[in-house]
Amino acid sequence: MKAQPKSWQCVSGCGACCYLNPEERPFLQEYLPEELLKLYYSLVGEDGWCIQYDAQNRTCSIYEERPMFCRVSPTVLQELYDEPAENLAAWAIHCCTENISSVWGEESPEMHKFKQANK
Ligand code: SF4
Ligand code: SF4
Repeated sequence: MKAQPKSWQCVSGCGACCYLNPEERPFLQEYLPEELLKLYYSLVGEDGWCIQYDAQNRTCSIYEERPMFCRVSPTVLQELYDEPAENLAAWAIHCCTENISSVWGEESPEMHKFKQANK
């Protein structure tokens, strides 16, 4: 049985999770309560990217005030996804891998960097 990862690390120069196009996130309505769902939709730009995403620098322009659903924490994991806190690293790695694969591609430099940081 594969051991559960104990830690997760975001990597700079990625930003894949800021591509918010709802067509790419079909289960949004299942886990986001109405207020957060409204907030989510309000952030989606015409190109599918978050309107707060700085594409040039691949950073969040409201990082300190970013919404709850943009944060990776045991509380968010439990409150939004009903998953135990000890699954945090595995869950985060899974989400990042999915996002990076769909936005930048399976063989992209972003995926390579992420895998190196999360071995
Ligand atoms: S997809 Fe993962 S690695 Fe990429 S910016 Fe988002 S949290 Fe960081
Ligand atoms: S608010 Fe910031 S972290 Fe959240 S999706 Fe938008 S740019 Fe990304």
